Amino acid sequence: MYEENHLARAISMASDGRHDATFLIDGRSGKTTSYGVFWANAERMAAALVGMGLQPGDRVAVQTPKEPAMLELYVGTVLAGGVFLPLNTAYTADEIGYFLGDAAPRVFVCDPEKVEALTQVAQHAGVAHVQTLGAGEDGNLVKMRDAQPAGFKAVPRDPLDLAAILYTSGTTGRSKGAMLTHRALASNSQTLRDYWRFTEKDVLIHALPIFHTHGLFVATNVTLMAGGSAIFLPAFDAEAIIEVMPNATALMGVPTFYTRLLKDPRLADASKNMRLFVSGSAPLLAETHDRWREITGHAILERYGMTETNMNTSNPYYGDRRAGTVGLPLPGVEVKVCDPDSGETLPDGDIGVLEVRGENVFAGYWQMPEKTAEELREDGWFITGDLAMMDATGYVTIVGRSKDLIITGGFNVYPKEVEGVIDDLPGIVESAVIGVPHEDFGEAVVAIVVAQPGVSVDEAAIMDGVGRSLAKFKQPKRVIVVDELPRNTMGKVQKNVLRKTYADILKA
Ligand code: AMP
Repeated sequence: MYEENHLARAISMASDGRHDATFLIDGRSGKTTSYGVFWANAERMAAALVGMGLQPGDRVAVQTPKEPAMLELYVGTVLAGGVFLPLNTAYTADEIGYFLGDAAPRVFVCDPEKVEALTQVAQHAGVAHVQTLGAGEDGNLVKMRDAQPAGFKAVPRDPLDLAAILYTSGTTGRSKGAMLTHRALASNSQTLRDYWRFTEKDVLIHALPIFHTHGLFVATNVTLMAGGSAIFLPAFDAEAIIEVMPNATALMGVPTFYTRLLKDPRLADASKNMRLFVSGSAPLLAETHDRWREITGHAILERYGMTETNMNTSNPYYGDRRAGTVGLPLPGVEVKVCDPDSGETLPDGDIGVLEVRGENVFAGYWQMPEKTAEELREDGWFITGDLAMMDATGYVTIVGRSKDLIITGGFNVYPKEVEGVIDDLPGIVESAVIGVPHEDFGEAVVAIVVAQPGVSVDEAAIMDGVGRSLAKFKQPKRVIVVDELPRNTMGKVQKNVLRKTYADILKA
């Protein structure tokens, strides 16, 4: 099937000839979509795109709600030789204008509810075709799909051709479009399927967004590659996940999924048939890992990756899943910890910048050759910008983004170390430690803290607590108690927002 299209071939092999097998199960209505219907619809989507003049290598930009038809559009774009470019549903018209201007797609598909505002933006960016796809298969794209015959002959694509561009979240400066090849996506999904033992018997709870690498490439491609099923939920909903869990075998989530699910007293019973819980995209607290194990008997398997590289490391399927670590380099992925200035590899146990190399790594940033040259070395090593440490057994611990490192009075402070000490104090749920401008020290440490409900913690008690375990220069100069930390849709704490909010807190 699809012999000459590298990614399409890889993700269709497991369902080849299994037309009646279930691919998607609507988590709300229980309605199922078979593999036969899914592939036929993806082929119709491909035919509709080619009908709009899509040429191999053309971009298809998409900002739509999470719908099975969006997955058909993704696979249809790949079949048609195009480059899929999903956009966060939270982006405003201005932001969409930037992405369309930068990526110059031939087709833009948006929610019918936003089409009025976005058509103008798309026209301004020179996009030839604007189509719509909304909740419940609303919009004209599904009509166009249904007007096409199935049986589309996949456009040949080589392993190094582009299959997708995903923009990074861009917390500093402009968002960058990570160019992902057929080979990067196919090889990484295959590695994960094998490493995590996914088979056609698996039923994955799919509650992640599909505009991001985690929900689109990890969750969706792994399911397709295994020929398994996915219970498709439009967004995270603890109640809905608990309800479908007895019929599922695996869950992939960000850490907030797990902290929220822990609050449901039905979790222990609901999780009895599950075989695997995977967490990633942000650090999982060791406490969450321990609580989950106590309640469900399962050790959450934490893995680490990013938009540019797909997945790099994972805790083992069999063996020691170590809380607080992101596990071992995946097969085919090389990982090293380097000195940020010299690029020299550091000894085990030292903290430095993590670099990765392998087929999983992206091909560069879309139309940003200088940025690409800064971060992707000629010999293939990608400088992730994450600070990490590797121990003698190869387990990697992520310490934080290098831009979150605090340099105070010339000393380096790793926020994660201070956060770990604060989180262990009584009455604390979690914390975020940031650097803010300071007259004498350049930057000073400030902690933003969330207390357990009903517990009142004060600044002095926290200062006292950290004072017993941390050197003076690592201790926060101020502690601020808040109800919750700002997070993006992938559950990442937005330290850039906190730095802005508290920028003046130490100014006289
Ligand atoms: P994104 O490109 O949105 O997937 O974000 C990638 C970044 O998320 C990485 O560079 C890390 O900083 C962070 N990240 C992903 N997985 C983990 C993890 N398991 N633990 C800590 N940070 C993570």
